[in-house]
Amino acid sequence: MQGRIIKVAGPLIVAENMADVKMYDVVRVSDERLIGEVIELREDKASIQVYEETSGIGVGDKVYSTDAPLSVELGPGLIESIFDGIQRPLNKLYDVYGERIGRGIDIPSIDHSKLWDFNPVKKVGEKVVAGDVIGTVQETTVILHKIMIPYKVSGTIKEIYHGKFTVDDVVCVLTDDNGQQIEVTMLQKWPVRKGRPYKTKLSPSKPLITGQRVIDTLFPIAKGGVACVPGPFGSGKTVVQHQLAKWADADLIVYVGCGERGNEMTDVLNEFPALIDPKSGEPLMKRTVLIANTSDMPVAAREASIYTGITIAEYYRDMGYNVAIMADSSSRWAEALREMSGRLEEMPGEEGYPAYLSSRLAEFYERAGIVRLLGGEEKVGSVTAIGAVSPPGGDLSEPVSQATLRIVKVFWGLSAQLAYRRHFPAIDWLTSYSLYIDKLSKWYSDEIDLEWNGLRQEAVKLLQNEAELDEIVRLVGIDALSDSDRLTMETAKTIREDYLHQNAFHEVDTYTSLKKQYKMLKTILKFDHEGRRAIEECVDIDDILQMPVRERVGRMKYLPENRIDEIDQIGMEIKNEVDQLIAKGEL
Ligand code: ADP
Repeated sequence: MQGRIIKVAGPLIVAENMADVKMYDVVRVSDERLIGEVIELREDKASIQVYEETSGIGVGDKVYSTDAPLSVELGPGLIESIFDGIQRPLNKLYDVYGERIGRGIDIPSIDHSKLWDFNPVKKVGEKVVAGDVIGTVQETTVILHKIMIPYKVSGTIKEIYHGKFTVDDVVCVLTDDNGQQIEVTMLQKWPVRKGRPYKTKLSPSKPLITGQRVIDTLFPIAKGGVACVPGPFGSGKTVVQHQLAKWADADLIVYVGCGERGNEMTDVLNEFPALIDPKSGEPLMKRTVLIANTSDMPVAAREASIYTGITIAEYYRDMGYNVAIMADSSSRWAEALREMSGRLEEMPGEEGYPAYLSSRLAEFYERAGIVRLLGGEEKVGSVTAIGAVSPPGGDLSEPVSQATLRIVKVFWGLSAQLAYRRHFPAIDWLTSYSLYIDKLSKWYSDEIDLEWNGLRQEAVKLLQNEAELDEIVRLVGIDALSDSDRLTMETAKTIREDYLHQNAFHEVDTYTSLKKQYKMLKTILKFDHEGRRAIEECVDIDDILQMPVRERVGRMKYLPENRIDEIDQIGMEIKNEVDQLIAKGEL
């Protein structure tokens, strides 16, 4: 069937004679075959968002339906790729077309000619259902790609091969219940706007360990959790993201970049591929998929990009991996949504964003989670979603930030003020939060130490008390404080400077294991407890604050992981020094 364009408004076109198409079907526009997606249907008129530049397209041009929704190709070859919002392989397009990518190009998303070594893990005669792994391919040096039976397919294996194949070659033949033969390849297609199916969603119960002390200790995110991080310019957002990508115990990273200015995205395209994975010593790209929207690409592609990203994340989740997806920034994505909504002449909501902004954001974040996977065997996989917001002027009361904060369970409030004082990571301990604390407390107490949750609470309380005392000090001076309050101020300062402050560029400090975090925090709080004991025994507060051991407390973070037992000695030393101060007073 052929439609006919009756209106062109930038990236939005309206065509008539489109009664046969469905919502979200992909169409090709004009004889240039630009890619578009149906986003509104009224009688036989379809509004189509076009993912390519529409100049030169005019009324009367034809629109061809493809009868298929916007989908991504899933199979070996995704990793290390750089895609645009509709999964066109940017690195290959640049190779072929240079900077000025032409329109209406049909280039497959993943390489269809590359041969992959397929290793079967199932045998002839075995019964398989959707989600079952039938074989593996070493996709990169660090990721083993699991080839799965596609959704809604099942049967008994009639043939399964071993050897080198392209993604289009048949690697396995099944006989289904009706005796029909089904050929299985290494390629799957999936509509991006639909979450990939699983058995059940589980309640998040394990942390995504990041090695970043302020995150793991104070504001942890669960595997399968959702977080939001606002990033005022210069607040260290990029470094936080790089640290998470490098150190979080996720198997795979999907990074979706929606840049405003062209160079922002170029930075990402240059920086990410340069990062080295500390776990393997290989480039981080060996377990990363990048999706990039530069500013010269039409807004509509930006709108699609987060769905493309999360679909790829879900696909690797389905192999049993823990995947982390970062969307940077969802504000730019929302602006694309706003622009399209404006062109559709929809009733605008707050600040011109469409009324469905919240539900669209929720649809994205809801696809995160830890789930029981399809397939005969019990398997679990997770997608953890971390969205950056970039509110204009850093004002979080604007609609995108507000809508995001209603959905996410973790908020890492990057503060420009802290960054200015060079406190990094500049995550504000007073405004940030994690709603996973209760769900994760059992894990921390079972796996790290029974004391963990108590220590954490104590540290939070000290930091809050410090903020209140700060007010008093500002009004009447430090001398007005009791000894006990002065100790509170000092311990809180130690927590801030020697614990929360973490230098991403220091060889040792860049990552701290949970065991070491526990020992460090315990030692800092031991200073607090012992200090209070000394105060009760009438030791002068200045003597307590000048205990020589405090210098060692300040250097704990630089102790390599293989020497963390020395932290216990620092704890003992604190007690010794306090004992000495008390003994001196009793003389
Ligand atoms: P943004 O992306 O928010 O504009 P960046 O992440 O580029 O900011 O950080 C700005 C600068 O702050 C970095 O170049 C670095 O010098 C410093 N910085 C940020 N985070 C850290 C950190 N964890 N440790 C040390 N320095 C940091």
